[in-house]
Amino acid sequence: MSKSETRHKLRGGCQCGYIRYRIVGEPLTLYACHCLDCQAQSASAFGLSMWVNFVDFELQQGELKFWSARADNGSDKQCAFCPNCGTRIYHASDREIISLKAGSLDDKSILQPVAHIWTKRAYEWLGLGNKGVICCTEQPVQFDEILQAWRQATFKKLN
Ligand SMILES: [Zn+2]
Ligand SMILES: [Zn+2]
Repeated sequence: MSKSETRHKLRGGCQCGYIRYRIVGEPLTLYACHCLDCQAQSASAFGLSMWVNFVDFELQQGELKFWSARADNGSDKQCAFCPNCGTRIYHASDREIISLKAGSLDDKSILQPVAHIWTKRAYEWLGLGNKGVICCTEQPVQFDEILQAWRQATFKKLN
């Protein structure tokens, strides 16, 4: 899809306002991850991961700082965050796709995850398993189903 065809103009930033970015292409999917890593990075119950093509992420203001972490699956990932307030902006294991920390987006209305992963580590009081979305107890072997569910949900919203 070319940039001029992009349906959403997604913008976001960090808590202090130093980092500002925009997403110029369609997000690929959105899911909640309940792994211990996401609980630690968010200092909360889970992480919200929105997959975005690396080339679609445009830093508009500020300069990101990077920290390298070992992911649950053993691979290294680059963690981008605001050097002032520490808000995590995205994770990237390669230069193709980033996992945007979607709570940093301005428009919260699109933040409806199509899946929950690592549910075996999820807080019990969240009451997962009953939300009509995909649930995986650990890291999915492949994400096809999760990518597909997002495309369907986006299509439904627009038609
Ligand atoms: Zn900041
Ligand atoms: Zn995680």
